[in-house]
Amino acid sequence: MPEVQKEETTTSKKLLTHAKVVVIGGGVVGCSILFHLAKFGWKDVVLLERDELTSGSSWHAAGQIHTISSDPNISRFQGYTIDLYKEIEETSGHSVGLHMTGGFYLASNKTWYDYLKCERSKARYMGLHQEFISPEEVARRHPLIDPKHYLAALWDDQDGDLDPSGATYAFAKAAKVHGAQYFTHTPVTETTQRADGSWEVITPKGTINAEMIVNCGGLWAREVGKMQGLNIPVQPMEHHYLLTERIPEIAESKERFPCGIDYEANIYFRQERDGLLLGTYEQRGTPWKVDGTPWDFGHELLQPNLDQIADRLEFAFDRIPALANTGIKQAINGPFTFGPDGNPMIGPVPGMTNYWCAVGVMAGFCQGGGVGLTMAEWMMDGEPSIDVWAMDVARFGDWATPDWGTVKSTENYERRFVMTFPNETLPKGRMQKTTALYDRLIAKGARMDQGFGLENALWFADGPEDAHEEPSFERNRSHDYVAREVKAVREAVGGIEIANFAKHEFKGKGARAYLDRILAGFIPKPGRLTLTPMLTPKGKLYGDLTVACLADDHFMLFGSGAMQEAHRRWFEKDLPADVDYQNVSADWHGIALSGPNSRELLSRITRDDVSGEAFKFRDLCQTYVGGVPVILNRISFSGELGYEIYCKPQYLLRLAEAIEEAGSDLGYRWYGARALMSMRLEKGCGVWTLDFRPDFDAVESGMDVFINWKKDFVGKEATQQFKTNGIKQKLVTMTIDVEGIDVSNDEAILKDGEPVGYVSSGGFAHQVGKSMAMGYVDKANSEPGTKLEVEILGNMYSAEVLGAPIYDANGANMLA
Ligand SMILES: Cc1cc2nc3c(=O)[nH]c(=O)nc-3n(C[C@H](O)[C@H](O)[C@H](O)COP(=O)(O)OP(=O)(O)OC[C@H]3O[C@@H](n4cnc5c(N)ncnc54)[C@H](O)[C@@H]3O)c2cc1C
Repeated sequence: MPEVQKEETTTSKKLLTHAKVVVIGGGVVGCSILFHLAKFGWKDVVLLERDELTSGSSWHAAGQIHTISSDPNISRFQGYTIDLYKEIEETSGHSVGLHMTGGFYLASNKTWYDYLKCERSKARYMGLHQEFISPEEVARRHPLIDPKHYLAALWDDQDGDLDPSGATYAFAKAAKVHGAQYFTHTPVTETTQRADGSWEVITPKGTINAEMIVNCGGLWAREVGKMQGLNIPVQPMEHHYLLTERIPEIAESKERFPCGIDYEANIYFRQERDGLLLGTYEQRGTPWKVDGTPWDFGHELLQPNLDQIADRLEFAFDRIPALANTGIKQAINGPFTFGPDGNPMIGPVPGMTNYWCAVGVMAGFCQGGGVGLTMAEWMMDGEPSIDVWAMDVARFGDWATPDWGTVKSTENYERRFVMTFPNETLPKGRMQKTTALYDRLIAKGARMDQGFGLENALWFADGPEDAHEEPSFERNRSHDYVAREVKAVREAVGGIEIANFAKHEFKGKGARAYLDRILAGFIPKPGRLTLTPMLTPKGKLYGDLTVACLADDHFMLFGSGAMQEAHRRWFEKDLPADVDYQNVSADWHGIALSGPNSRELLSRITRDDVSGEAFKFRDLCQTYVGGVPVILNRISFSGELGYEIYCKPQYLLRLAEAIEEAGSDLGYRWYGARALMSMRLEKGCGVWTLDFRPDFDAVESGMDVFINWKKDFVGKEATQQFKTNGIKQKLVTMTIDVEGIDVSNDEAILKDGEPVGYVSSGGFAHQVGKSMAMGYVDKANSEPGTKLEVEILGNMYSAEVLGAPIYDANGANMLA
């Protein structure tokens, strides 16, 4: 039975009246944030806990720790977290009960073996210590496991287990050593904001005025959010693990047994005293307290329901035969909180001032240290030291409602140990946001995916019945359909919906000066478009945006749809009084036309002169197309002659009909995101969240070509230094000599067997008929013509760095 530790020292202390930061919640996440803030130098920081520390999900965790995660930066954080336990134990003098046994990830079929090969490839360039071992070696290290079920296992030295309660207390006590304070039995009942942006944090023991507050409410994250009208789309889920009776092989062993995960069986296990702890993610997850976590819930456990996990136990008995003869000492069913995509939701909440959250942390003992580090860096320095997009609360918008959150969080729980392939689209919570073209495109065979809540076409089959594909690591049946779309765009004309691009509107007499400061590139004259990077003060990429000047005091910025709330947060942070800003992404839908016939098509549905002389590359105008009012941009991401036509959502259907009608004899075809990604690849154009991220700077990514060095802009000094001092890595585009499979991303890039970088994106470039990738490699290996190797599913393929786009190198098509 997990034990709850108690400590009375802080309960009777008089509450402070002022603090720089109040952290709400004393689970592992809140305590880690408190620790990092204090360690990095902020002493005026306080944590308030409703009951004892660890009064949420933290006390009954299974305490298993590992580094594997779908996102490489989260893996880095997990490595950091595990390394941190020694430090907090030493600083606090409080044991975290750490056992670094090492652990394995067991592959019982080819699919999981392939998955682990991808993980191994990531680990290779990240410098994590993972190696494949044979089933026999698995059995040698863990004699209870029957090796006959497995093809191989990935071994990680950094895996192990700890005492969850001890770890939480060690964080809190280490924070105290560094000067922070925490108060137990101090529930926050209300949070109200003062006119100066600071917060009144109200408790029965008094009120603290805090410059910033952090919601680390864990199981009560939703309730703490609601105090401020914030609906957080997380959902506590019931979760079972079992503790067995004594197992002689364990009891008699001198060495502690390693821990492990068997994906196909959907079980995780580790040694607990002289038996095993065995947990599983139920096939049908049970959301707990959908309408809200009761305030009087505390150190109770839920009624176990072994029927829920009976199918998993059968697998477990098969694979660890000793279990069949061992009694169950205790079945634990405890709730813990999941987010819609399984990753934490952390950072400053968009639309709010001085309100931070670190919620939905479902693997708090693997990730808590990294979350604490990031939050402290972000609060103290204004930006985290590495890209934390995969955890950023801003990756969700108002469409992530509580209902949607419950549906997606449940799906995520159920899929915790279920394979998600790189080309797989998840089924739950779909059609949350659609455009007027949804039914029309479905009828034409669109296979859809969801991005920032909005359905958008991936590719088009020959009608709805045909719109299916097998999720796989390899190329699947969509390959030939995507090829058809690329051909249409490259040789005739194609159209793609662009509702999913972000649109940010700036108005006012200060707008130009403001944009000139926060964007590194040129700000265009009225009627013109420019491309520009947006940089952080430390010179990291924070956006690649198209700037449209509608009038001297009126601008529209187009950018990554996924980043729209993150960018809103960025723009609103210190917006001057003479600038009006709005995220108008939902107000502008549209269609991008691309291809040699796109001008002819456009000319048939507008009265304007759109000839090359009259409407040049990077021109824009507000006009009528297809009889509806639009913003018309002459620009295209496909690298072909093209136009982006933005209209209000109510005009989209009319616009689409006009395009289809006018294009019928011009070879018009709808195309999807996969064709677009293929075309941008052969043009060597990077994409946000993959090739362009805050992990990289403008020089490394090549975005410095768009910088206007003659002005002052955010990030200039840092970027100048990168230029002067030289960079270590560079974004390159490569062709890869491979058949039937392409990179997805995060594969290792090697030279003479040594990792020199990793893939940031890639796929098949249909027009040139080559498998391609973009990736960051050591500067020394970035020269055109350099021969490298890329690891795909454990095999090495030769690759060559390109010096120029492989398709239409001088951009003649686009400029036509
Ligand atoms: C059965 C089970 C097994 C698990 N196994 C593992 C594992 O092996 N490895 C792993 O890494 N993770 C595991 N987890 C998950 C892990 O427990 C969670 O990720 C972690 O506990 C989340 O910590 P937290 O601080 O976010 O939330 P919580 O632990 O829920 O803490 C939130 C705290 O906030 C306090 N609070 C809430 N509202 C207020 C308020 N208004 N005022 C003051 N205080 C407030 C609560 O009292 C509570 O103490 C497991 C969880 C369960 C249930």
